[in-house]
Amino acid sequence: MNVHDARKSKSIKVLNLYYNNRPVVDFSELKNNWSLWKCAKSCHLTFNQTELKVDFPVPITACNLMIQLDSFYENLQALSLEPLLCPRCSRPVTDEHRICGNCHEKAYQCRQCRIINYESLDSFLCNECGYSKYGRFEFNFIAKPSFIFDSMENDEDMKWGLAAIESESENAHRRYQELLGFKKPLLKIVSSIGENEIDSQQKDSVQQIMFFLPGPSCKIKSKIALLDVLNGEKCKAAFNSVSKIVQTLQGL
Ligand SMILES: [Zn+2]
Ligand SMILES: [Zn+2]
Repeated sequence: MNVHDARKSKSIKVLNLYYNNRPVVDFSELKNNWSLWKCAKSCHLTFNQTELKVDFPVPITACNLMIQLDSFYENLQALSLEPLLCPRCSRPVTDEHRICGNCHEKAYQCRQCRIINYESLDSFLCNECGYSKYGRFEFNFIAKPSFIFDSMENDEDMKWGLAAIESESENAHRRYQELLGFKKPLLKIVSSIGENEIDSQQKDSVQQIMFFLPGPSCKIKSKIALLDVLNGEKCKAAFNSVSKIVQTLQGL
């Protein structure tokens, strides 16, 4: 984690990193559902620390990560010295109602989404969009793809696993049929390029044909473009999807 443009008045004291390996379609399933999360690391930072690196000697397998800012340092002296800045024009706001004298904007608004958190006017993060006026946070993770699933420990896990195997198998079958369906049109286009638009002696390279024969090349070009879409995009997407599902099924 790197903190840019950090302010001196407030900084993170304890940061917790949580993870789980439960694939979900809707992230709201994970929100506030603490039983699904495991704590990977609790980090105690020094005052105004702007860089944090966490190593995991044993890598963790996760499809979801959550960073919790648990507690904060507050420097009241610095807080009293730091002027309240207008979120719109960035000028100091001294008005007792906290209205900017320059542009008349409400100073307690979030700089990014313009919401006012009346419950905590000095909150570290905006409760709506996550913007922080105490610094710009950058998180980087080093990871590699994995298809390992958590081991099944109870009946509920088993039910979930069986349902996942079933739906993934159905998906694999559907995508495989889709992939097979591309075979005929692809063969048809490939053979029609040779038969209709050019004679066999001019087959050396499509590139050459397109260059030397401006007339039929338009048709060839459109066929090549079609081939590109069918083979390069549709087939590739279906193939990647089948491969991914097979790896997922093996992991389950
Ligand atoms: Zn202003
Ligand atoms: Zn906001």
